[in-house]
Amino acid sequence: MAQLIDGNRVRDQILAELKPRVDALIARECRPGLAVVLVGQDPASQIYVRNKIKACKDLGIYSDAITPPATVTTDELLAIIADLNRRSEIDGILVQLPLPKQVDAKRILLSISPKKDVDGFHPCNVGNLVAGLPGPRACTPAGIIELLKRYEIPIAGRRAVVVGRSDIVGKPAAMLLLHEHATVTICHSKTPDLPAVCREADILVAAMGRPAMITGEYIKPGATVIDVGTTRVEDRAVVERLFSETPDRLAAFDKRGNVTLGDVHPGEVARVAGAYTPVPGGVGPLTIAMLMTNTVAAAERRAGLC
Ligand code: NDP
Repeated sequence: MAQLIDGNRVRDQILAELKPRVDALIARECRPGLAVVLVGQDPASQIYVRNKIKACKDLGIYSDAITPPATVTTDELLAIIADLNRRSEIDGILVQLPLPKQVDAKRILLSISPKKDVDGFHPCNVGNLVAGLPGPRACTPAGIIELLKRYEIPIAGRRAVVVGRSDIVGKPAAMLLLHEHATVTICHSKTPDLPAVCREADILVAAMGRPAMITGEYIKPGATVIDVGTTRVEDRAVVERLFSETPDRLAAFDKRGNVTLGDVHPGEVARVAGAYTPVPGGVGPLTIAMLMTNTVAAAERRAGLC
């Protein structure tokens, strides 16, 4: 049976390591500060934001939630960001995606000061990532590297396959794995014979948003499988097929009417892989931990500590 990579445990470790750094900043009157901009009332986004604010509170990080209405214009949002760029007590600015259609999301993300870009999405920080220069790294990909390192899974010299080429997960994850000296292949929806390419991977990262698509035939026996996908599924037939051997997950579905699935088939990965991240409880918890890490690092730069 494959080893389960416990994201909650690694998140708790990272947050515990951050606490003394936050305390040291507070002692120097440089309390880290994070502003989260949440447009509209999307319930899923509200939960994400609430979790981020709670993580700040638990660590002693100042947080400010700015919640313009769903009708906000690009210019109004640009003004909000400009104000946050000016505020000295704010080290990090996070704009919760997705933004409403009428808002030019690219202009908004470009307007965030690269120094306060705790998501690592600004082109300046993407450049820093590619060039291997210091700067905030995208949180989910940075979390993947933390998981691999803390579980002592070798990366250097290994074959890594990343399925998905988005700017926020696939591309930065591939770049970070490359910097760790893996031989990296990036796959996408036009990749022919995806199972064969995936089977070459010692480390397989699935970041597509295609629930349970990665079955046993995609996985090299003994490989490490990192499942980034998170899709809410409400179809009982799908859930029944996937969790026929785990009645507790089926019962949880019946109670809630939905279940969050990764891109990797939960039963088959446990059978074939050497180690894997579950969904939920794998990569997800790391995203907030790395957001906190980026915020603390930005405050340390402001305080002249690094
Ligand atoms: P995007 O939709 O931006 O990108 C999906 C990528 O997957 C694309 O590159 C697409 O290829 C590729 N893809 C889609 N279908 C297939 C297929 N059948 N075969 C091969 N490749 C395919 O998604 P994101 O990168 O933003 O997110 C990916 C998943 O990760 C989602 O489920 C999301 O919810 C989750 N996520 C989880 C986070 C966490 O904290 N756990 C954080 C961020 C995301 P192409 O480019 O050719 O279209």
